[in-house]
Amino acid sequence: MTRLLIIGGGVSGLSAAYFALTRSPTPPDEVILLEKGHRWGGKITTERVDGFVIEGGPDTFLALKPWGMALARELGIAHRLQGSNPKQKATYILHRGRLHPLPGGLTMMIPTDFGGMLRTGLISWPGKLRMGLDFLLPPAKSPGEESLGRFVSRRLGREAYEALIEPLMSGIYAGDGDWLSLQATFPYLRELEVKHGGLIKGALAAKRARGKQGKATPGSRSMFVTPQTGLAELVEALVARLRELGADLRLGVEVVGLEKTSKQYSVISNQGAALEADRLILATPAYASARLLRPHDPELASLLDAIPYASTATISLAYRLADIPRPLDGYGYVIPRREGREALACTWTSTKFPHRAPEGMALLRVFVGRAGQEKAIAWTEEGLLAIAREELRLTLGVTAAPLLHRVFIWPRAMPQYNVGHPARVGRILAGLDRWPGLALAGAAYHGIGIPDCIHSGEMAVGRVFRGR
Ligand SMILES: Cc1cc2nc3c(=O)[nH]c(=O)nc-3n(C[C@H](O)[C@H](O)[C@H](O)COP(=O)(O)OP(=O)(O)OC[C@H]3O[C@@H](n4cnc5c(N)ncnc54)[C@H](O)[C@@H]3O)c2cc1C
Repeated sequence: MTRLLIIGGGVSGLSAAYFALTRSPTPPDEVILLEKGHRWGGKITTERVDGFVIEGGPDTFLALKPWGMALARELGIAHRLQGSNPKQKATYILHRGRLHPLPGGLTMMIPTDFGGMLRTGLISWPGKLRMGLDFLLPPAKSPGEESLGRFVSRRLGREAYEALIEPLMSGIYAGDGDWLSLQATFPYLRELEVKHGGLIKGALAAKRARGKQGKATPGSRSMFVTPQTGLAELVEALVARLRELGADLRLGVEVVGLEKTSKQYSVISNQGAALEADRLILATPAYASARLLRPHDPELASLLDAIPYASTATISLAYRLADIPRPLDGYGYVIPRREGREALACTWTSTKFPHRAPEGMALLRVFVGRAGQEKAIAWTEEGLLAIAREELRLTLGVTAAPLLHRVFIWPRAMPQYNVGHPARVGRILAGLDRWPGLALAGAAYHGIGIPDCIHSGEMAVGRVFRGR
């Protein structure tokens, strides 16, 4: 009898269970998945209420990373995936309290449309001239591991970084670009610099290459996709398939301790009895995995604990369209850190995904909380709702009370891939050599997006069954 225990029922743990039962050359006799919460999906949670589809955590995934699309196909839900609305694609950036359209022609988030950049009011003339220096500055020879902020400021200038690049890029991690590791978050930017001699030159080359590909495959899909009635569809399909495959899925089981014998692992849960297994995957946040490993391997636990996490929240609010004084003619807006707001972005969900709100209604989603700003925030439902309503009043002029709202608070939710992250992950992987049959999966290591998490589940299965 071989038994695989997986701890954590987010998308990483669910994917690990799926791959264990479908990919391992010798599938385990038993796969048991333990989740401390009372629902599956972890950060993925969708509420369907009064014709609205409300996402509490992620709302789309990147189609360009193959693992999400591949899993959707295998689960038979690829036909349910929708792209974002191609008719109203504008994104805005808040600048001195007013919304400015993002200059068109961003390729890999780098500006490549000179007309658009010259016209934008987001950046001053000296700032624009400084951006142009990117064409002349030689690539840095060996800059060491740089932060995103330092790298982009070095190439395009600090003003372009703060006004344009920081809100687009750091927002994905709810992070601080001056701490985030370029290598761990956007390694392709350094590749553009090295290969093409500059960021804009590199982005232009990528645009030309994509143009050629685009001609070869007309009608290519949106970059981001999501199932019609929310990402919970992915979780529901995974859980249904796991049941068909015979996985043993247990909710409400919190693992509180771990024992290791020469061949086996034994986990202690809040339900008392020990469960033994010869393979174990920890698909829990790094700090939760650290807690379980600490009594046996303090060094590995300290490395895991050193991965910082940011807390964040999403507040979804529904209105009559007539109550919104401004046309919702795009996907929403991002807020640079330097604007000093508590919110970091607002998605106009009912424009981005029109099927998520009934006709004549608007669904807006405000994001609050980012690394370094968390202490100033009232992390209560009322406090967060007040922040969101104030944000909508200041920027969109919305004063009406929402018809409905949902607040989702995510404490220590977003792993921060700060400078030093790649080396730390390397040391964690080396430390795992002391733990045969054990693997880690999840957002903390090689990518926070849903496709990355799915991939992490597959890699963890590879490690526990094939030792790599
Ligand atoms: C607000 C927000 C918006 C996001 N937006 C996007 C987006 O649009 N697109 C995208 O691709 N990604 C997005 N992300 C990131 C993505 O959602 C996450 O990285 C991903 O869902 C993490 O999955 P996971 O399985 O690794 O972790 P989790 O979802 O955190 O799952 C871990 C599970 O482990 C359980 N657990 C912990 N400790 C124990 C224990 N001791 N015993 C048993 N169970 C335990 C937890 O209850 C949890 O269910 C977003 C994240 C947030 C917070």
